[in-house]
Amino acid sequence: MKSAIYPGSFDPLTYGHINIINRGRKIFDRVVVAVAGNMSKNTTFTIDERADIIRELFRGVKGVEVVSFRGLLVNYMSRRGIRTILRGLRTFSDFEYEFQMAMGNKKLAQEVETLFMITEGEYSYISSSIIKEIVALGGSARGMVPPLVEKQLRGKLRVERAAVRRGR
Ligand code: ADP
Repeated sequence: MKSAIYPGSFDPLTYGHINIINRGRKIFDRVVVAVAGNMSKNTTFTIDERADIIRELFRGVKGVEVVSFRGLLVNYMSRRGIRTILRGLRTFSDFEYEFQMAMGNKKLAQEVETLFMITEGEYSYISSSIIKEIVALGGSARGMVPPLVEKQLRGKLRVERAAVRRGR
């Protein structure tokens, strides 16, 4: 069985991510969506919340598995016997970061290959951070994230705002 791992923060999942997962499914028998417990990023959703949202949205979809991991991706891959990393590319600015990551992973694990999928036109501008900003400022993220994600995001931002008010 040909498997690829699609790692990311997914904070939260967007239609851009979903597009990569669905296109990946056409190439691989299984796409393992791996939510990273990234120490250097301050996430809005916890690692479990991010994974649960994706699980809910892909429930019953063949060829998609959702996991979370902490630590080095290549170590997780080696435990699972997976050798291909799937990543998405939007802009030139993505490229530099992705290039460094791919080189770094290659250095750590020679057998690992990173494959890039170019975003599709209508998704090219979508990023988790832009969506969080839009929703935080009261805008609609319809067409950018599934309704479930928008609902969860609104709830989360409401809790954050209340906490800030309490702290004042
Ligand atoms: P990370 O923190 O690892 O970059 P992200 O959740 O931001 O995690 O992104 C995971 C992967 O999905 C990255 O390869 C990113 O470039 C890609 N990606 C994010 N949004 C899009 C999009 N709209 N179109 C294509 N790829 C995307």
